[in-house]
Amino acid sequence: MPETKVKKTEDFNEWYNEIVELADLCDKRYPIKGMNIWRPYGWTLMSHIDQLIKHEMNNTNHQEVYFPLLIPESSFKKEEEHIEGFGSEVYWITHAGLNKLDERWLLRPTSETAMYPTFSLWIRSHADLPLKTFQIVNTFRYETKQTRAFIRVREIHFFEAHTCHVDFKDAEKQINEDKEIAKRLFDKLCLPFIFGKRPDWDKFAGADYTISIDVLMPSLRTLQLGSIHQYRDNFSKPYNIKYETEDGKHAYCHQTTYGMSERIMGALIGIHGDNKGLVIPPEIAPTQIIIIPIIFKGKEKQIIETCGLLYEKLKNEGFRVKIDKRDITPGNKFYDWELKGVPIRIEIGPKDTEKKEFTIVRRDTSEKRSVSQNSSILIIKQIFNSIKEELSKNAEKILKENLHRVNTIDDAKNLKGIIELPWCGVQECALEIENILDGNTLGEPIDNIECKYTCPVCNQLGKTWMRYAKTY
Ligand code: ZN
Repeated sequence: MPETKVKKTEDFNEWYNEIVELADLCDKRYPIKGMNIWRPYGWTLMSHIDQLIKHEMNNTNHQEVYFPLLIPESSFKKEEEHIEGFGSEVYWITHAGLNKLDERWLLRPTSETAMYPTFSLWIRSHADLPLKTFQIVNTFRYETKQTRAFIRVREIHFFEAHTCHVDFKDAEKQINEDKEIAKRLFDKLCLPFIFGKRPDWDKFAGADYTISIDVLMPSLRTLQLGSIHQYRDNFSKPYNIKYETEDGKHAYCHQTTYGMSERIMGALIGIHGDNKGLVIPPEIAPTQIIIIPIIFKGKEKQIIETCGLLYEKLKNEGFRVKIDKRDITPGNKFYDWELKGVPIRIEIGPKDTEKKEFTIVRRDTSEKRSVSQNSSILIIKQIFNSIKEELSKNAEKILKENLHRVNTIDDAKNLKGIIELPWCGVQECALEIENILDGNTLGEPIDNIECKYTCPVCNQLGKTWMRYAKTY
């Protein structure tokens, strides 16, 4: 059976670049660098992930909004740190038709500056709070580094939640809810991750603090999938988002945001895939079950009929199922659907039809078994659960084996993955370690942070641990 040209186990980055197009997720031939075309298969997969996110948002009383793509320069410039952080990454619109605009507009890199002038109109009293909104939109950033499908692009499929609260304490509650949302969401996607508190010099522009959500890719580089930001009143002051308190005074809101992007696709592809292609968790798979008729001369009609009946039965049970009736060999069909990561393949041949059975093949383990047609639904559900457990277990193993807590730079030098070292809290020490390890500062762990060892650079007692890793 042919496999992808490049093996995941031999050259992960090349395998990744190849598989995103081979599996029909995207087309990289669009004539603007870093702006790829979502093909139907890839877009369906992304929309299933979006559905999970929307489900979480609904269950936590967030309301969906849609703000315009274009932001006037005057709105963008109100928060100084923010414009400093994003200024070099935005695309500007200077003309409308033949006319030069009086004021430039920009394509949203994120939507704080689009939303907050309006929030200041929407919020009047404490009764309007908390305000919990989200949107799933495209954002634009002028990436100058090498682009990579779903991981580093210039037009980004982006989820952003923006909330406003009466005070810091209530905003902190939101941050805790956001963390729980991440746990539930990434559990469904079988993607183990770590939370990290970004160092002050690398937090989101304008934030009080930022918590990142990182996964470890098989190349042992980390990939940041999302972040949660506590803004305090850093934005509400310049944007004048005030409310009337119960005793008739005026106070500034405290705000949070929660962002995640199409990088989730990148993580799914990279972490679960194998040498044969994608492996997609059943919950989000565009096609969960592919039925393949194994045609023998003289039995064609009977086999096609059996396939049709099974298809109807599975479809009525709510499974996303397809029959592959193309006039090509079963082997070629297996290859195509394995490449696309369909969790379960069902083969039906003449013997299966006689015995009222069919053959089920799992995409993740290639395990094959015969199943009686009567017990199919229950067994498929069990296999889906088992695939989910297996994918999570394998991914957790990689993360666990490559997350190291050590005390000295010598101990750290030969390690790959994520390295935790004692940290005194001084930026220069962390940057020095970045240099030595040729990695990036990822952030502090948010639990289990007690450190009794000295900073390996300055020998002061460590205040906490700091993580370092090579990153995407
Ligand atoms: Zn130090």
